[in-house]
Amino acid sequence: MFSFTNIKDYQENLHQGKVLCETAVRYYLDRITENNQLNAFVEVFGSECIERAKQLDNKRANGVQLGKLYGVVVAIKDVICFEGHKITAASAILGDFQSLFNATAVQSLLDEDAIIIGNCNCDEFAMGSTNENTIYGRVKNALDESKVPGGSSGGSAVAVQAGMCMVSLGSDTGGSVRQPADFCGIVGLKPSYGTVSRHGLIAYASSFDQIGIFSKNVEDAALVLEIISGKDKADSTVRQVDSKRFQIDGNGKPYRIAYLQNALEHPSLDMEIRDSINSLTEKLNADGHWVGPVAFDLIDYIVPAYYILTTAEASSNLSRYDGIRYGKRHTGDGAGLREFYKKTRSKGFGKEVKRRIMLGTFVLSEGYYDAYFTKAQQVRQLLAERSREIFKDFDAIILPTVPSTAMDAGDMKDPIAIYLADIYTVFANLTGLPAISLPLFKHPNGMPFGVQVVTKKYDEATLLNISAMLMDLYKK
Ligand code: GLN
Repeated sequence: MFSFTNIKDYQENLHQGKVLCETAVRYYLDRITENNQLNAFVEVFGSECIERAKQLDNKRANGVQLGKLYGVVVAIKDVICFEGHKITAASAILGDFQSLFNATAVQSLLDEDAIIIGNCNCDEFAMGSTNENTIYGRVKNALDESKVPGGSSGGSAVAVQAGMCMVSLGSDTGGSVRQPADFCGIVGLKPSYGTVSRHGLIAYASSFDQIGIFSKNVEDAALVLEIISGKDKADSTVRQVDSKRFQIDGNGKPYRIAYLQNALEHPSLDMEIRDSINSLTEKLNADGHWVGPVAFDLIDYIVPAYYILTTAEASSNLSRYDGIRYGKRHTGDGAGLREFYKKTRSKGFGKEVKRRIMLGTFVLSEGYYDAYFTKAQQVRQLLAERSREIFKDFDAIILPTVPSTAMDAGDMKDPIAIYLADIYTVFANLTGLPAISLPLFKHPNGMPFGVQVVTKKYDEATLLNISAMLMDLYKK
């Protein structure tokens, strides 16, 4: 019987011939079938995967040099291009659109001999927090199917949570990797803005979007990050450096860690979550680290700034889905071009996406631009300055990931209430900092929740080392 603990052990078994890639792929395909009701996948690339697994097994048998992700079974979110495969962003407007090329991250996975098993359900155009805004029907949390898995990368999270793949890719514009990781009890990593190429990622808000990783442990996330990060001619916002090592060295070094007082005192935070983060700070102090409070009075400006800036970018990014350049057409009855656009976009986009396009168009409109967009940019600037100051004295910041545990499906009807629950995740996107959610806790209500760690821009190495240390601390 196949079982998976981490990529390193799995690959050792492959190299020793104790297991075959084909066995692993067949195992995951069975798990996907068994868990069909969770609705995590949009499409599964069954026979294609088995074929690829066989080729990789042959490669090994013939002594051919193998890639670093040899045999690793990966799922990807339905916003990441995989050539020749359907990509819809869970939206009717893309119809049966197929990717014309591979996203750079996908190409890097394939170059290192990973196996892509399928693409995953998500909120439409990555807008949402519950994975209920999707043409494919809601994704269910495997720990309690009446609960949401989080969003927008809910399918990718559940694919890892329920053991339907080894690791998966999502995208994180405002928390869409960290928040579902928190709700599902797994690791969710959002790299710094500019660490991973966005080429081939369907754009929501281009100055925030980043591809992220779901895994069951920190080491696997570090390995996948090493592969998918790095220079790319196709994305000028990627950091142009050659070295991209994210080694976890288990150095046992004491860290200086800040917690944001205003975040922990926020009225929206569940008391149990607050108490757990407080006990974590005590544990860290007792373990020889230095943990201290910092004031962060910008907290209540974060969510409004995020929603103004991201909807503005979305209104521009999504203008390309007009039924001519992209998108499924809905022709009117010869009423002209304007009518054609109106019909195509009215029918093609879901309610939440339309809400954001309209909000974004409004905040960019003449007369309102300075009051909203410019003000929000100023907040973004202040956040960047404040975080730079914090990192003069500290190696990392710890925060809750989400103010509550996973909600009941159908519960979140008020969009403003949903937006406000992004309070702890959007900070890292507004500032471009790397952040991770680690599954350390269980609530008395039975659901898991995580702690979020944030470090300096491009300092994923420290982020991952602190993460490994924290995971160990809770194993003890
Ligand atoms: N909840 C956030 C939103 O709806 C998350 C989006 C994301 O990270 N893609 O905007």
